[in-house]
Amino acid sequence: MNVILVVIDTLRAKNMSCYGYAKKTSSNIDRMASEGVLFANSFGHANNTHPTFTTIFTGVYPITHRVVRMNAQYYLNHDKIKMMTELIRGAGLTTLAVDNLATAGRFVKAAWLKRGFDVYIDYSEINKKENRSIRRLFEINELAFPLLEEVKSKPFFMFLHSWDTHSPYNPREQFKHMWYEGDPNGRINLGSREGRKTLEKKPTGRTTPSMKQPDPRDVEYTIAHYDATITDADAALGDLITKLQELGIAQDTMVILTSDHGENLGEHQIFFGHRWPYDDCIYIPMVFWCPKYIPQGKRIEAIAQQVDLAPTILELLGIEDRALFEGHSLVDVMKGRASETYKYARMHATYPDVRRAIRTKQYKFIKTIPGCPYEPDWPKRELYDMKSDPNEVKNIIDNAPDIATELESEMDRWVAEELSKQPGWLDPLIEQARHGWLTYEN
Ligand SMILES: [Zn+2]
Repeated sequence: MNVILVVIDTLRAKNMSCYGYAKKTSSNIDRMASEGVLFANSFGHANNTHPTFTTIFTGVYPITHRVVRMNAQYYLNHDKIKMMTELIRGAGLTTLAVDNLATAGRFVKAAWLKRGFDVYIDYSEINKKENRSIRRLFEINELAFPLLEEVKSKPFFMFLHSWDTHSPYNPREQFKHMWYEGDPNGRINLGSREGRKTLEKKPTGRTTPSMKQPDPRDVEYTIAHYDATITDADAALGDLITKLQELGIAQDTMVILTSDHGENLGEHQIFFGHRWPYDDCIYIPMVFWCPKYIPQGKRIEAIAQQVDLAPTILELLGIEDRALFEGHSLVDVMKGRASETYKYARMHATYPDVRRAIRTKQYKFIKTIPGCPYEPDWPKRELYDMKSDPNEVKNIIDNAPDIATELESEMDRWVAEELSKQPGWLDPLIEQARHGWLTYEN
């Protein structure tokens, strides 16, 4: 068995057709799901890149590896933390990556993510030469396909990381206008004077001008561009599957499609970026494709988290050494040998304020952590009914105090338990808030 892990940066589940979006944005991924397994309750642990990728590669929660925000290298618990790629290479498989996380970044690079790779194609230099910040999956394919041709006869693990859906939303020309029919300068479609003011003032998010459009005033235009980036990446994923078939290795290769975090497309007054532990940023896709090995067309309701990816990948590759992981392999639920995983998913957000959240399938409780320079003027405790209010606009903390108390107690209990595994270490959210936050997202 080979595994290819494809992570499309900033891809939110809500805008993919296989996750219920009205536009058919992701037909190839939909097909992967219909021939494989889709996790319907799949969550990331944070709103930005370094914490989530570090969890994907280590199989432990951010509170354990301690990279809870961007550019937090000096906080990583290097002595204790192993990358899954070190275990995979140790078991004799070839490990390959096309990525730029190890060297990209404004302040500190996530160099640890390079550990354990035999071949790490870093496209930072190409981006720099071309004066670009993002590289799309069809361009990642161009770098990855020659590697696949080289390794096709031996077992391998490959990691592909693309930035299609990260701003500036810049799909290929043939996809650019496929989801928009209006006049980009015609209106601001926010539905309220408040919202309109926010878009015009651009208070916190990068807005449409960075997307190199002629000041489009219709927010739907920009959302349509985001949707087009999904369709662009989706087409490239289709090309990757075709390539595996051409090489004769599709039968023995598991392709996993996921994302590190989502994006706010106007929700919670963010145009556009990834902030806060709402589902816009936390609800990520998780689709597994390998028709020979897993059931076809299975949609799983059990909660799946990023922390589960490393143990799952190691089990798929037949590697037993999974003792250090805090997550659990999802193979049993995929194969129908188990039906449930977790009662609670855990997440936090670190930009611009600091919040910790806990989520069941029905409720999400969010608590603002005091002590960081930016303390917003909104309730410090929030509770949302995700079934009746999936966009998290109605804080019901006063209507359901018992549920909030139960979730808060569970959150506090879990934090104490996690910290007890590392005697003498502080809660990294509090520690890093005290040291000040770099106002930087990615
Ligand atoms: Zn990211």
